[in-house]
Amino acid sequence: MSYVDEVIQYAIEKNPAQPEFHQAVKEVLESLRVVIEADEEKYRKEALLERMVTPERQILFRVPWVDDKGQTHVNNGFRVQFNSAIGPYKGGLRFHPSVNLGIIKFLGFEQVFKNSLTGLPIGGGKGGCDFDPKGKSDHEIMVFCQSFMTELYRHIGADTDVPAGDIGVGGREIGYLFGQYKRIRDCYEGVLTGKGLTYGGSLARTEATGYGLLYFTDEMLKSNGIDIAGKTAVVSGAGNVAIYAIEKAIELGAKPVTCSDSTGWVYDPDGIDVAALKEIKEVKRARLTEYKNYRPNSEYHEGRGVWTVKCDIALPCATQNELNLDDAKALVANGVIAVAEGANMPTTLEATEYLQANGVLFAPGKASNAGGVATSALEMSQNSERLSWSFEEVDAKLKNIMVNIFHNLDDAAKQYCLEGNYVAGANIAGFLKVANAMEAQGIV
Ligand code: NDP
Repeated sequence: MSYVDEVIQYAIEKNPAQPEFHQAVKEVLESLRVVIEADEEKYRKEALLERMVTPERQILFRVPWVDDKGQTHVNNGFRVQFNSAIGPYKGGLRFHPSVNLGIIKFLGFEQVFKNSLTGLPIGGGKGGCDFDPKGKSDHEIMVFCQSFMTELYRHIGADTDVPAGDIGVGGREIGYLFGQYKRIRDCYEGVLTGKGLTYGGSLARTEATGYGLLYFTDEMLKSNGIDIAGKTAVVSGAGNVAIYAIEKAIELGAKPVTCSDSTGWVYDPDGIDVAALKEIKEVKRARLTEYKNYRPNSEYHEGRGVWTVKCDIALPCATQNELNLDDAKALVANGVIAVAEGANMPTTLEATEYLQANGVLFAPGKASNAGGVATSALEMSQNSERLSWSFEEVDAKLKNIMVNIFHNLDDAAKQYCLEGNYVAGANIAGFLKVANAMEAQGIV
């Protein structure tokens, strides 16, 4: 059996009942085959791939908290510190009822390669909790965040592990988490990113993942001789990534016509009104059913369905495995040119293969959504310097990083005769840097 197949098998056996983690390992290792098989005995002897698929540390903890009515609840907290070969662990915290160890491991594993691709000195980690923030009062969110940090604080630090936001963790939650860390540790340091601007946050961090997705998509299209201006885009999600992807798409002259949340989706033939969307989601924290009050020409549909809308560009920005094979077939039948992932692993393996086989330009999330973590690393730099950069300065660095990521993976794909396969290019480029650092540091 080839070494790659052995390690895929190893990851499945050692991590039972973690399908998302198995999926991420398969996706990455399959595309590394060409690199590994060129020097298989060396990698096998060092057990390099076994070390890569095994987190350096996994922390599981109880999060007890009391709601506004006096009822006690218990949630499960996680922090997976996956790989610190090229820098302190870095990766978001997700608060969502679907969170479990397998999901956090898949996200942490992907994060290792993503962070490597940014060219910045950050290792990979991820964390979260099976807590559902929906319907909770501000006070309950604060109490919960304080309890979560009362355990997490002992495992993180500005030079050790620097968490950020993810699904269900935005500026409000980061604020409460930071306040509790500072109180317990009596230490004012850049231990979390995504902070508010008055206490160490970076300008453009809120916008970074969505903007970065569009900078990447624009560069990918340009390098294939296509202009983004005038193109119709369908977007899923209505959270942080989706909102700023829509905003930047409009700025670049494209027309995003959909967005969605976990209950339904909106089609606006005149193009999404991003100011209305921000008010509904960021200010009122309401459902998308409200959108029709702002735009009477729009349609609201229950359930899922954005991928059935005719478009040139598809931007999945909600969650994992939200674009399946049937969706990919519908997109191809409607003439889609490019799919760029804003979320982490939103496209299933079968759907990715179908899109690639049908000539669709496909940008994997670990490259195209790396703008968020890249700007988090810029926030860390500003915190270390005890300085703040202007919006324009951060945005210019972000754009530069996204353009570089595209060329980095495009070059890696070409080098291994896989031109146009951006999935393989991203995995190979991300892998080579981490593997090199691991080998240099010995068996640790
Ligand atoms: P948010 O919580 O701000 O928004 C998530 C959006 O996706 C919401 O509209 C939510 O709807 C929807 N959604 C979540 N889960 C599901 C589901 N199971 N089915 C359908 N819709 C769902 O999260 P972000 O925008 O921050 O993150 C979105 C994705 O992008 C995630 O995969 C995340 O890991 C990834 N990502 C985020 C980065 C960041 O900087 N924020 C950086 C890189 C990647 P509802 O409100 O109804 O739950």
